[in-house]
Amino acid sequence: MKSQKDIISRNKRITMLMVFATLFLLAAVPSPPPTANEIHTVVLDAGHGGKDPGNLGTGRYKTTEKDVALEVTLELGKYIEESFPDVKVIYTRDDDSFPKLEERVEIANDASASVFLSIHCNSATPRAYGSETFVMGLHKSQASLSTAIQENASIYLEEDYKGTYAGFDPNDPDTYIKLSLRQNVYLDQSLLLSKNIQDQFRERVGRRDRGVKQAGFYVISFTSMPSALVELGFLTNKEEEDFLHSEVGKTYMASAIYRAFRDYKEKMESADIQPEDIPEPDSKTPEPRDDKRNEIPLSELVVNEDIESGVYFEVQILTSSKEIEKSPENFNGLEVVDEYISSGLYKYATGKTRDFEKAKTNQELLKNNGFPGAFVIALENGKRIDLQEALAKFNK
Ligand SMILES: [Zn+2]
Repeated sequence: MKSQKDIISRNKRITMLMVFATLFLLAAVPSPPPTANEIHTVVLDAGHGGKDPGNLGTGRYKTTEKDVALEVTLELGKYIEESFPDVKVIYTRDDDSFPKLEERVEIANDASASVFLSIHCNSATPRAYGSETFVMGLHKSQASLSTAIQENASIYLEEDYKGTYAGFDPNDPDTYIKLSLRQNVYLDQSLLLSKNIQDQFRERVGRRDRGVKQAGFYVISFTSMPSALVELGFLTNKEEEDFLHSEVGKTYMASAIYRAFRDYKEKMESADIQPEDIPEPDSKTPEPRDDKRNEIPLSELVVNEDIESGVYFEVQILTSSKEIEKSPENFNGLEVVDEYISSGLYKYATGKTRDFEKAKTNQELLKNNGFPGAFVIALENGKRIDLQEALAKFNK
């Protein structure tokens, strides 16, 4: 039989335990401090904008890369905000403005974002198609390097780009070697997120999966958080342009990236990441064989009208201090090349047309096929005139 004393001391012990338990619970009740893995802020970067249209696709639609990227980005942001009210979504642009590449990076870094996603559309030969997602690093194929050069070229449209990007010249191959030496502590997370995106594109939207790759894109090389650059597809491929031009296509792509983000968030926050979740970049670089098969030669793609006089446009592709023989071998297979001499330099151009839209399509084709510096010029009776002057003459 227990004594009165025993009962009291037992009650005391229970009380003490309850006090401890309460203290423990009180300490635990305030929401746990955010862990390093918590996804609290997402910066969404629609590529290009304003005076930088990005690529112009096949030219069949007035749609440009900047518009497709913006629509998909805004829709993606809407899905994230709706499903995760606690996640802050910040856009580098939500209209047709032209933030500098440097500013895009700053926005993400200043917000200490958990994720940075840059959305773009690709361009290449008409046969190339499919979606790919890039993380920072050294390119393993010429195709990846060309994509990075094209995207980084936005810099040239910025005022004072030479001052802003000292030592970063998008056209200089050394730039890419130097970039690849930057530390990337977020590579694994970036790869995981990219893999999720590619999985969604392939399995849920039926896009051709060109894989997760590495290349020296400015915007994902200077952000200090997991970052990826998505190439939704090639606007230079008719079928893909049709798809990305359509509202349904854009919605599919935005929802696919949203689901990829959702899965990434869940994995990061549960800290349940297995080695097999992290893909090897460029592990299956499916350079599709049929990209090259039956490829239409460049000389047939570039429009060259039979024009002798009057006002017309051309695309200047090369400048040289020495004369270059106008053979196709010297000009990536181009059969029609005109030579002009001005200020003691030899200038080479192709793609005569009186249609400015065609001239821009020619420029895009030439930029993507070995002449990254190609630009549209205007001529009257064989002499260079101001581009605006030429446009004004046609609008009269
Ligand atoms: Zn782009």
